[in-house]
Formats: sequence, structure tokens, C-alpha cells
Amino acid sequence: MKAVRFFGHKDVRVVNDIERPVPKGDEVLLKIGGAGVCHSDLHIIDEGTVVGTVFTLGHENAGWIEEIGENVEGYKKGDAVLVYGPWGCGHCKPCQQSKENYCDHQSEQAYGGGLGLDGGMADYMLVPSSRLLVPIFDLDPVIAAPLTDAALTPYSAIKRSLPKLMADEYVVVIGVGGLGHVALQILREISGAEIIACDVTEDKLAFAKQLGAAYVINSKDADAAEQIQKITGIKKAKVVLDFVGATSTIDLGTKVVSLDGDLTIVGLGGGHYQYSMNGLPFGVSMTNPYWGSRTELMEVVGLARQKKIHIEIEKHKLDDANEVYDRMRQGKIKGRAVLVP
Ligand code: NAD
Ligand code: ZN
Ligand code: ZN
Repeated sequence: MKAVRFFGHKDVRVVNDIERPVPKGDEVLLKIGGAGVCHSDLHIIDEGTVVGTVFTLGHENAGWIEEIGENVEGYKKGDAVLVYGPWGCGHCKPCQQSKENYCDHQSEQAYGGGLGLDGGMADYMLVPSSRLLVPIFDLDPVIAAPLTDAALTPYSAIKRSLPKLMADEYVVVIGVGGLGHVALQILREISGAEIIACDVTEDKLAFAKQLGAAYVINSKDADAAEQIQKITGIKKAKVVLDFVGATSTIDLGTKVVSLDGDLTIVGLGGGHYQYSMNGLPFGVSMTNPYWGSRTELMEVVGLARQKKIHIEIEKHKLDDANEVYDRMRQGKIKGRAVLVP
């Protein structure tokens, strides 16, 4: 079968000689409908966040059950499912609570399919357990694939700040890419706060307005923080969601977040933050959430089935993976690119 393989630093190749796996025991073989292209892949490919192993990329996956191992119950050939991405041990307390993204054993195992183990940028993908599948019913797997990360990750980050996102508050969203464009819609649907969106190009800012941002600011502007403070006034923004995670965006976040606010850094842009008592308002919670839980993914499917969130998608062939990654490096993708075998 065909697969998009990571061979090492800046070396991604589309190959045709991968054997189609056969599921045993608890395993499930999926026929892939779509595999989303996440910026985290670029951190792996360009910056070496996963090293020393060759594997198939693609950690945002959806498809149809093709074959099941002898122990799998409750699924049959043709069922449409998402693959929950952060694969935990399945046994520890966080895993039992469905929060495999915070599995006790994360430091000693690969993060999941497409993140050290074979992922979904291929004709078929082997999933180690049906525990990691979430049914999508009438949703199309091509459109649904990015729900597993581009929607689940912002959803989980927003949910933890929800009590602070009331109608008299402001929320700042930095980065209106794959994750950020869904974050805006989730905020619009489940919170009352007024949204201020930041990106670095005019087309992304116009896109943000369409998705529910009341205000847009170009974060390249030297006075971006002052522009935001002009909108929020002295109270500042109760929640800042940073989907870039560069030193400059973390710096912007610390300048605009309010007393007792949340500064949530989702982006893995390699930024640094030096704590200083005067640099951060009192009471601020600074967090770096990772992905979301299995049950939160079910809630995200609910939002999509009710048409409350819509992922803007461009479809591409597996053969075009390297060109798609290049366009992502240049910030040229609107919404999410999905590879369709
Ligand atoms: P993307 O490439 O689709 O979008 C990034 C967006 O940020 C683009 O619109 C780009 O124009 C914008 N941007 C770049 N620099 C900016 C700046 N200085 N100010 C404002 N906007 C800026 O990326 P994505 O797939 O949405 O991923 C975003 C980040 O989140 C990546 O670092 C990715 O690795 C990370 N991520 C983290 C998790 C997690 O669980 N913590 C999960 C998925 C992705
Ligand atoms: Zn991702
Ligand atoms: Zn675990």
C-alpha cells in the first residue's frame, strides 16, 4: 500500500511498498478516508521532535472499519470512525478517565500513530485497540479527520477556561490556522466572551472575522499589545489562547492577559518565557495543554454533527504530501489540509 513516511530530519517520502497490516486480538484495520496535516508534523520533520525511528505520518485520522481482530466487539466492516490520537497505556488512572493525553506512562512510550508509530497518511492504518475509536455516524471521514486534533485540542483548552469566558469578558486567540480557526467557532458556540483574533496576514484576519471574531489585530504590528488593550480597557483579556507558542506571541499574551486570567499556550513554536513578578499579572494561570480526552472527542463530534463547527478543508492526494507541507511552512493553508488516499 501507499504511505507517506518520515525517514529522518527533513526527509519525507511517499512509498508504495508498505505491507497492508492484518489486525489481531484487539487491533482494528481502518481504510483511511482522510488524514489531516498538522503543524506538529513540521516540528517533527524540520526540528526533530521525534527522532531515531521511521514511521508513517498522519495523526489526525478518520476512515471506515476494514477488518477487526478476534477480540473486537461492537464494530463491523464499513463503520465510520475517528482515531483518538494520543495513545496511552489504557490502564492507568488518567487513561481510565479517558484522558490518555495525560497517561502516566507518556514519557516511556511513543505518542501514537503518526507520532513515532505508523499513522494514517496511507491507504490503511492499524489501530491497537477499538478503545481508541470514536464513531462519527453520518459525518464524512474526509471532513471529520481534523476533528481529532484541530478541533479536539482547542475544545479541551477552551473547556478548562469556560467559567472565565463570560459575556462581559474578552478572549484573545493568537494564530488562525488549523487549530485557531476551529477555536474561534468553538468560542462563538460555547462561550459568551468577545473574541479578539491575531494573525500575521490580512487574509487570515478576514477569515477570523467570518468565523466570529469581533476584532482582529495583526500581531506583527509593533503596538499589537496596545491595540488590544485599547479594545479591552483596563480589565484586559480574561483568557489568551496562543496557537503559535513563539517567544513573541507568549510575550504578547503576558501583556494583554488580565489579573486572575488564563494564559494558555497550545502552540509548540519553541518560545521561551522568563518568569518575573512584574511581567505577569497576579493570579494568572499559565498552562500548556496537550490534546484532549476521548470523551471530549465525542463532544466535538456532537458539535460537528449539529453543524456548530465547520472545518475549512483543502483536499490533496498522498502523493502531494511534501508540497502541502511546504505550503504549511509558508502559512498558505486556509483552515486544514487533508490527505485523501
Ligand atoms: P497552522 O500552520 O495551521 O496555523 C498556524 C497559524 O499561526 C497560521 O495561520 C499562521 O499565519 C499563524 N501565525 C504564525 N506566526 C504568528 C504570529 N507571530 N502571530 C500570530 N499568528 C501567527 O498550525 P496548526 O496546525 O494550527 O498548529 C498550531 C500550533 O499548535 C503548532 O505549533 C502545532 O504544533 C501546535 N499543536 C499543539 C497541540 C497540543 O496538543 N498542544 C496539538 C496540535 C497542534
Ligand atoms: Zn497535531
Ligand atoms: Zn495510561
